[in-house]
Amino acid sequence: MKILEVAVPVPVDKTYHYLPLKSDTSLEENIIGKRVKVSFGGQKLIGFVLNILDVQNENNFKLKEISAIVDKEAVVSEEALKLAKYISQNYVCSFGEALACVVPISMSIPKRNLKPKENSKSSTIQNITLNTQQLNAASFINSKIENNLNAQILVHGITASGKTEVYLNCIETALSKNKSAIFLIPEISLTAQFVEIVSNRFGKLAGVWHSAISNTEKYKLFMKAKNNEIKIMLGARSAVFAPFKNLGIIIIDEEHEYTYKQEQKPSYDAREIAICRAKFHNAPVVFGSATPSLETYKNAIDKKLDLLTLNERIDKKELPEIKILSLQNKKFRGSLLLDETISAISKTLSKKEQVIVFLNRRGYSPSVMCKKCSQVYQCLQCSISMVYHKNPDVLKCHYCGQSQNFPIVCSHCKSTEFAVFGTGTQKVEDELQRLFKTAKVFRLDGDTAGSKEIYEKAYQGIKNDEYDILLGTQMIAKGFDFPRVSLACVIDADTSLYLPSFKAVEKTFQLITQVAGRSGRGNIKGNVIVQTAKPGHYAIECAKNHNFAKFYEIEIKERKKMFYPPFCDVAKISVRNKSEEKADSDCNNICLAVKDFTKNSNLNLKILGPVPAYISKLNSIFRRNIIIKGDRENILKLKKPIDDFKRSCGTFIGIEIMPSDLI
Ligand code: ADP
Ligand code: ZN
Ligand code: ZN
Repeated sequence: MKILEVAVPVPVDKTYHYLPLKSDTSLEENIIGKRVKVSFGGQKLIGFVLNILDVQNENNFKLKEISAIVDKEAVVSEEALKLAKYISQNYVCSFGEALACVVPISMSIPKRNLKPKENSKSSTIQNITLNTQQLNAASFINSKIENNLNAQILVHGITASGKTEVYLNCIETALSKNKSAIFLIPEISLTAQFVEIVSNRFGKLAGVWHSAISNTEKYKLFMKAKNNEIKIMLGARSAVFAPFKNLGIIIIDEEHEYTYKQEQKPSYDAREIAICRAKFHNAPVVFGSATPSLETYKNAIDKKLDLLTLNERIDKKELPEIKILSLQNKKFRGSLLLDETISAISKTLSKKEQVIVFLNRRGYSPSVMCKKCSQVYQCLQCSISMVYHKNPDVLKCHYCGQSQNFPIVCSHCKSTEFAVFGTGTQKVEDELQRLFKTAKVFRLDGDTAGSKEIYEKAYQGIKNDEYDILLGTQMIAKGFDFPRVSLACVIDADTSLYLPSFKAVEKTFQLITQVAGRSGRGNIKGNVIVQTAKPGHYAIECAKNHNFAKFYEIEIKERKKMFYPPFCDVAKISVRNKSEEKADSDCNNICLAVKDFTKNSNLNLKILGPVPAYISKLNSIFRRNIIIKGDRENILKLKKPIDDFKRSCGTFIGIEIMPSDLI
């Protein structure tokens, strides 16, 4: 008799057996690779048929029948199986969970065949002539594409050196060889700009993939990529799985961004998946950045990947001048804006040029305190201060999303006087509007953003001169190419500097460089102001001097001294429970178990912990971490003591391999 082997997305690393549908009398090979609905422990789940097995054993009659076949055609390719295997082995999850990520399990077949929306833009190839540096970079990459050669390439190009044009040139080469391309961007706010660039050049050949598209849209795009109806997938992290059969190139723009790493299970890194896929397809993978991550840059220096450098801006434009303003012992007019910053903005606006103002803190003020008893308002469910938001006046927790009304009387001492401290983007917006009455300000942060339309509006609005100031959080810090922006202001460069994270300094350098890079991209000379309480810090000094090499030199020594990546691999075991006591005791015990295992198996690993997480209570759940440093291969062996650990009721234990942060 014939039975089906099905991969189900549950955290057990095995496959399950089901009987085919009784109605499916002529059980055909083509059920392999399709999704099916199955009953699983009282639930209905979707799984993937991996195989048809011929078995003799009568016992198999007791197997359950599958409930339905979901797909009309197979969605799982050979490559998808390989990738799922890679993910399950390298990021500690089951094969079924991994496969459900490689082949988006939730995508759904459109009910009716709606007429495809016609993309009005057709291919209108504008001819930009690449400069010498661009040409050199492009021809190196193109030769790999043309000769079907796998390669890992870092394009280290300063801001506005024309990296995007290099990518487009290479995509063109891939298409001319009848191959496809994947183009990853780090931030959904950049989608509008890149969709415009890519569709101006390639028209309907490009699809756009990100987490905000619907499940039916996902299905349509997936099928188009699989059946070669589109040739380019532009998108966020998960676009790396676009099921092209003949990939010519994978591009990862702003490769240093943490968004390429998925935090939830399976916690894959799109950069590593791209490397895997590029090998499979004998194609190059291109990492681009003005501020490469230390890991990638070290690989380039160690000649593990090819380094291409673009060290001039287009048309030899100058890099903007960066002025550092100290926030120490300064008086502010209400918000964090220093007088010198205000006059620079004023000067820029009077010339009808545009300004970008960056502050990585949304809301009005990050803390609220009772003036009498000094109680600081904390979220009841999380170990973090509530942030004051205006219009409506509420206190919001930025971690669990809870909000409460602004207090009328102090819950502690019944006083009615409160002080709000610190500056968020809302307060800066108020201040800018007060100072520059006629200026049009667009604020883009986690509170105003969310829909595709808002990003589109911000992008088009700044591009078409409808706004004078673009104010926002990290959403506006990178990638934008607005020729009329001639001043970029970093209001508080220190927001990231003092996080208890080994990447804090690197992130600060990257942010300042990226924000600065938004200024002076067109024909106007650019200026940058960076406000900081630590003007002498090397992250700030090196950013001011546009000196990546120097920054790398200092920071790589620190990493070596402290034994952090790129000198080791890291992992984070997180232990969570609603009961603080159980979280503590389980974390202590698993830490001991892991240490014992490490010792007995002679694994060369450093184990730090238990440590409370940076947010030690989130959503009423207590969080404790254990940090592991060492070789990836050894780290992965810890799956065993973790799986074997007898946890208390209600304890969640997860392990994240190479997390973007250890806090
Ligand atoms: P990067 O990605 O390195 O920050 P971009 O590719 O966005 O830089 O290029 C910056 C600007 O210069 C863009 O507006 C782009 O259209 C323009 N540009 C790029 N290459 C050329 C070129 N060879 N000649 C003229 N303009 C160019
Ligand atoms: Zn009080
Ligand atoms: Zn909260």
